[in-house]
Amino acid sequence: MAQILEHPARPALNILLIEDNEGDAFLIQEMLEKTSSRDYSVLHVPTLENAEPEYRNRPFNVLLLDLNLPGTTGMEAVEKVRHDLPTTPLIVMTGMDDDQKAIGALARGAQDYIVKGQYANNILPRSIRYAIERKQFENKVIELVHFDRTTGLISRDLFMNRLEEAIAGAGQSGMDLAVMLLSLRRFKEVTATLGHDVGQKLLKTVAVRLKECFMQKDRIARLEGDEFAMLLTGDLASPESLAAFSGQALRAIERPFDIDGHSLRIGGSIGIATYPACGTDKSELITHADTALHHARQNSAGSFHFYTRKLNEELNARIMLERELRNAVRQRQLLNYYQPIVDLKTGRPCGVETLVRWQHPEKGIIQPGAFIPLAEKSDLILEISDFTMHQSCADLMEWQGLVKGPFYMSLNCTARDFQQLDFYERLCAAIVGTNVNSCQVALEITESALMEDPKQAVQTLAECRNSGASIFVDDFGTGYSSLSYLSRLPLDVLKIDRSFITDIMTNGHNLVIATATINLAHALSLKVVAEGIESKEQADLLKTLGCDAGQGYFFAKPMPKEELVPWMQRCGT
Ligand SMILES: [Mg+2]
Repeated sequence: MAQILEHPARPALNILLIEDNEGDAFLIQEMLEKTSSRDYSVLHVPTLENAEPEYRNRPFNVLLLDLNLPGTTGMEAVEKVRHDLPTTPLIVMTGMDDDQKAIGALARGAQDYIVKGQYANNILPRSIRYAIERKQFENKVIELVHFDRTTGLISRDLFMNRLEEAIAGAGQSGMDLAVMLLSLRRFKEVTATLGHDVGQKLLKTVAVRLKECFMQKDRIARLEGDEFAMLLTGDLASPESLAAFSGQALRAIERPFDIDGHSLRIGGSIGIATYPACGTDKSELITHADTALHHARQNSAGSFHFYTRKLNEELNARIMLERELRNAVRQRQLLNYYQPIVDLKTGRPCGVETLVRWQHPEKGIIQPGAFIPLAEKSDLILEISDFTMHQSCADLMEWQGLVKGPFYMSLNCTARDFQQLDFYERLCAAIVGTNVNSCQVALEITESALMEDPKQAVQTLAECRNSGASIFVDDFGTGYSSLSYLSRLPLDVLKIDRSFITDIMTNGHNLVIATATINLAHALSLKVVAEGIESKEQADLLKTLGCDAGQGYFFAKPMPKEELVPWMQRCGT
């Protein structure tokens, strides 16, 4: 049916004219022929059905659409071509007195309209020029709104629209659908150390790699920061395909990135939510994929996780606990317990270890193991350690004179504490603020916390030790047990972990380890404290082995300060 009415000569603007009336089509062609400013190549088809194979086959610069085609309403025709050719300029043609129709077409995305028969003053070429310019501008705006400028991927808004459409489609057809969220590890470190530009180039390269492993490239979005989203449908959304794709995407991100001469290893984590099992609307799917992502981030590097109801319950419980803990810090529900440390040679208390407790209004006393790991995931741990440090130092001041001989107080520090650049200043604030002698303060840190960032740890340890505080290695023997750091770090005391002491009377291996630890520590001029002493036999044996001090239920349980003072008095200090 297609009939080409071609204007000869120069490169032409390709126009698809959809017009059932041969006379009107002829008039339009003739009018464009008379135009000297531009050449036109007009392809005329009489119906939408005839138009579709043509515009699917090759691009057109402009569509001219009659609003009175047989078998369809004008608005249906506009919606059809706007859907199929969203970026092509569209001019509609109406009869006289069809203003309402014309306005309806403009509202549905046409760029301009002309009234048939009113072709004076070169109106058609002008309308074509205007429609092209207007559409170019619209396309630019759409690009800015719908595409991420850094990566060229689709934006969050467009992704959410596509997700909504896909959910509607999947609801009708029963097709599988999944949302996958990917976040980068160590991205913040990259921007913090190498700057914003390197960060942006990195994101761009990550997008390229994701596109390489993802067939539906128009369904990858950058949501914000270092977070990407992918929408998978059909066979790609089966559990096996999702697992395979996740592995592929994570491997692609694991490969080093070469940005501006820096070789960067970042890695990523993925959370997945499937429709309808994990949610039936877009926000539910995104929220649940995010829950799974949160869980994947906590696991080892390069892992992916599917959303489950159980995961959601765990996360909700954690969020609830975190909220309660935040209140607990504000409402002074935290309190210090103190466990005496006893000099094994003299039998007298030589110090206390501070152990924080949460006095929950309904649940009673909560042990630190139930809330400190959670607090460590946020800045809450810093508030808790500030409280512990200040309260311990204040209490220590009250006990001055109660104790004969040297007496110290040891504070448990987390890896997060030691990674804070201002940890030393915060410690000094507690010491100076309470007027305590810094030589009476000890910091306990586990081997694994030391090893998380040994460089920063060495600096912080040195600062704290220069101020007079002592450094204890806590739970010795359970972490990395890298012996080389013992000689390199500024340390004072090793605390042998309770697991070696509990069965020291019957387990020959643990006796050997405890003996070796004591000898090693002494050879390095360090003192030794044994944790978890529960019987007189254990205390006597450790004393014989040369262990300097001990703590455990045999001597005393951790106790509030009101009980500690009478305890020390009973010990005849
Ligand atoms: Mg400890």
